[in-house]
Amino acid sequence: MKKISLFLLLTLIVSNHLCAKTYYVATNGSDSNTGTISAPFATLKTAQDIVSAGDTVYFRGGTYHITEDQIMGYEANSLYACVFDLKKSGTVDNPICYFGYPGERPVFDLSNVKPADKRISVFYLYGSYLHFKNFDVIGTQVTITTHTQSECFSGRNGSNNIIEDIAIHDGMAIGVYIVKGGNNLVLNCDAYNNYDSVSEGGKGGNVDGFGCHVASQYTGNVFRGCRSWCNSDDGFDLINNYASVTFDHCWAFYNGYKDFSTSTPGDGNGFKAGGYGLKVQSEAVDAPRNTIENCIAYHNKANGFYANHHLGGDNWYNNSAYLNKYNYQMVNQQSWDVAKDVGGYDHVLKNNLSFTSVKGDTLYINQDKCTLTNNSFQLSSYTVSSTDFESTDYSQLTAARQEDGSLPEVTFLKLKSTSELYTAKMGYQFTTETTGIECTQAQKSVRASVYDNKYYNLNGIEVQNPGKGIYIYNGNLLLL
Ligand code: CA
Ligand code: CA
Repeated sequence: MKKISLFLLLTLIVSNHLCAKTYYVATNGSDSNTGTISAPFATLKTAQDIVSAGDTVYFRGGTYHITEDQIMGYEANSLYACVFDLKKSGTVDNPICYFGYPGERPVFDLSNVKPADKRISVFYLYGSYLHFKNFDVIGTQVTITTHTQSECFSGRNGSNNIIEDIAIHDGMAIGVYIVKGGNNLVLNCDAYNNYDSVSEGGKGGNVDGFGCHVASQYTGNVFRGCRSWCNSDDGFDLINNYASVTFDHCWAFYNGYKDFSTSTPGDGNGFKAGGYGLKVQSEAVDAPRNTIENCIAYHNKANGFYANHHLGGDNWYNNSAYLNKYNYQMVNQQSWDVAKDVGGYDHVLKNNLSFTSVKGDTLYINQDKCTLTNNSFQLSSYTVSSTDFESTDYSQLTAARQEDGSLPEVTFLKLKSTSELYTAKMGYQFTTETTGIECTQAQKSVRASVYDNKYYNLNGIEVQNPGKGIYIYNGNLLLL
């Protein structure tokens, strides 16, 4: 009996593995093909029709000029045109993967998709356990001239999705916009040069690089290793969000600017970490505590790190800010029923570094009601200067990513080992959780790759019964 059970189990495992199929899509493909590498499909729609959990779809290199007849669906209330309407789900062990073919970099060009009076969502994620990797999305349009927005990746119901090494640029849409779903990981993505020049007379007031705006049950959304620049509104935005979000090792620069020069009428904050608009709320809000760690905010039109009238505190660990309007602007709303700005309360600011700003290192911090530890702006007898840093050349920030998609190695705002601030372990190059243990690039990559609720050592080996020490748990460093 035991033998039979084992045999059945093995059969199931083997057959399950054999069931996982690989399909190919190519710019010279045809939807009447079978989807093999030598007879690829032409469209994502045909591939999605045929896939099931565990399957992989590879897009070969080249530019896919998407046309309006490829729009897969429309939202029930008809507001959104869902270009790639992704309703199928994978499972925890068998995600559905939509990958650019290794060694090639496909580009989805949406500039010809202009459905009248519709908001456009390019990748409409209704399904869960989907994994996207290694391609560009360009030219997404806005057609509505009143208040509106379009989105490249819309989290509209899906949880446990991974959006990895995707570049979203030179369009009019928000890069990644999550409004429903938890435990999504946005990893090593770029959003840049996105400006809605069509709606509301070209205000560009909604085009953030990345945003999460979910209800309280959708916890665990993480943005890691992402860059956001030259978007007409904010770099990263958590307004109207009710579940804690983590921004980890993300860079925001020149948001609220076009082409690194002209300012846009949009907001232009680097990291807008909360808030519900300064107004009396209909009921008490259980504001989430967001974590912003190891991030860089440089030369955003408005604030670098911004609490945006939040109704609670955030965790701000080991960030570096330079040349924003205010580098750390911690304004809170007094309470849910009093719409008044007050000095920020309940924020934990630890090991943050502030270099030159336009108007000030900080604004609106109530020191009695926040926990402030080892931040450069607390030093009364030390002036941070360019001599503290290996480089202040911001052109490094747009350098090509590493082969695995992780952030480029830069020396921008990296402290010289001779700097007192280096000794104090401030800024993005140190991690707070380990009280000052610096992560190597290899360890950062391991962190980014092990994203589940198990313990790993810094080499990525799973540890069953962890004792005292440093571990990676769900992508975060943990000191036990
Ligand atoms: Ca705005
Ligand atoms: Ca915004």
